[in-house]
Amino acid sequence: MEQSLTDPIPDLPGGRILMASSEAHPLVKTGGLGDVAASLPAALRELGQDARLIIPAYPAAVKGLLETRVLCELEIPGVRPPVRLLGGRHPDHPIPVYLVEAPDYFSREGNPYIDVSGRDWGDNPERFLLFCRAIARIALGVPELDWRPDVVHCNDWQTGLAPVLLADEPNRPALVFTIHNLAYQGLFDRSAFDRLKLPTRLWSLSGLEFHQRMSFIKGGLIFADRVNTVSPTYAEEVKTPRFGCGFDGLLRQLGSRFTGILNGIDYRVWDPVTDLRIARNFGPDSLDGKAANKVALQAEFGLPPKEQAIVLGYIGRLVEQKGVDLILAVLPRLMAQPDVQLIMQGSGDAQLEQAIIEAARAYPGQIGVYIGYDEHRAHRIEAGSDAFLMPSRFEPCGLNQMYSLRYGTVPIVHRTGGLADTIVNATPERLAEGLATGFVFDQSNADSLWHAIRFALRIHRDQPEQWQALALAGMRQDLSWEHSARRYVELYAAARADRT
Ligand code: ADP
Repeated sequence: MEQSLTDPIPDLPGGRILMASSEAHPLVKTGGLGDVAASLPAALRELGQDARLIIPAYPAAVKGLLETRVLCELEIPGVRPPVRLLGGRHPDHPIPVYLVEAPDYFSREGNPYIDVSGRDWGDNPERFLLFCRAIARIALGVPELDWRPDVVHCNDWQTGLAPVLLADEPNRPALVFTIHNLAYQGLFDRSAFDRLKLPTRLWSLSGLEFHQRMSFIKGGLIFADRVNTVSPTYAEEVKTPRFGCGFDGLLRQLGSRFTGILNGIDYRVWDPVTDLRIARNFGPDSLDGKAANKVALQAEFGLPPKEQAIVLGYIGRLVEQKGVDLILAVLPRLMAQPDVQLIMQGSGDAQLEQAIIEAARAYPGQIGVYIGYDEHRAHRIEAGSDAFLMPSRFEPCGLNQMYSLRYGTVPIVHRTGGLADTIVNATPERLAEGLATGFVFDQSNADSLWHAIRFALRIHRDQPEQWQALALAGMRQDLSWEHSARRYVELYAAARADRT
């Protein structure tokens, strides 16, 4: 990967950036978007940008925000007042945060998108239209705020209607839309479009209509000045029918207005040198101390404390995208190997959850499972595992493989999206050059995954020095936000230039 420290420092134009997201760590997080929505504005501020964050006022977000105060009421057409804008400070970073408080819409315990039974909230179209209307109000200037953005940076379908609402406004800010995962399109029936009372002209092929349904994400793709996604390879992939989820033609048409910028990681949260959640700190140039994390992890998951065992980790949403079924398919071969342990943490698809629980029962003492979401435990798995499995069928960027690199946990990944952009495969040449950082397999099937795992097991067992070199090469990567945040500043400048 490119090293940001050796980059020439371009003359960065300053700007006021409103980062709009439906989640942000640690206020509320369900996946990678939450990490990015907090760490990117923090990195932008370090580059002198006045980046601020806006998210809905879920109860957990209100609880987590510091120095919270009511800034003003927002008049939102079609919504019973009061809708209030709260202001405060992010708990980990010096980022000003705006929360859109509308109790009937957002004051619900649990996940921002689904209810406790795992079903989408039935009024998601109304909830996220309201959020977009609030974003649009601030974008055009609210007198009480004394702050107006030059750029509104929208993220994923939940914010897709903000560019739609703003596009025709003569004095609007520039609009940037980032796709974090094109498979989530905010699709709703025509009846939802009618309920939202949006202008009927927006129901068209060049509007929100997508195969006779309404798509929120399409609003972002069509009406933003610039569109990007979270890795260069995924940006190319989604322009093909195989990965484009029906939007490949539209994305191809955007030409140079559509690009890929790799996510960075937040070393204030993910760094084994300073991480307070792990058993023993280690790094940056040595794996000494990692063994203590491994023993602690084995104990936590009830696995025998074998130092010579290779511990493979998995953390993530349990959905088809992540290729968890491929891990299950290789288990008979994997578990037949001596000294192999597998630790899996995740939640999602009920069938996959059940299959993993059953696998742990079938291989007692070899597989440890935690079904659920646990941020701290995720750190301990990264710190204590030797290798990390990420056989995703597609992966816009992926963060866990980057966290793994930092924690000396060698990633085994499918060559797709951001996984292809961040992991250097252990070919004989790359190993000899000391550049390899992991194992990359080409076909999205169990045999291909198994060949990669088998090769990794062999190196771990027979060539411990080679394994150490791989892990250390990964730890040395500069995965920080600095480089990518600069690319965003350039993107904002391009979006603003489009407006003049
Ligand atoms: P995605 O956004 O598709 O879920 P990413 O790899 O980009 O995948 O980001 C996932 C983020 O969510 C990572 O920070 C990961 O550690 C976290 N995560 C996912 N599932 C869990 C879980 N069960 N417990 C803790 N953290 C999780």
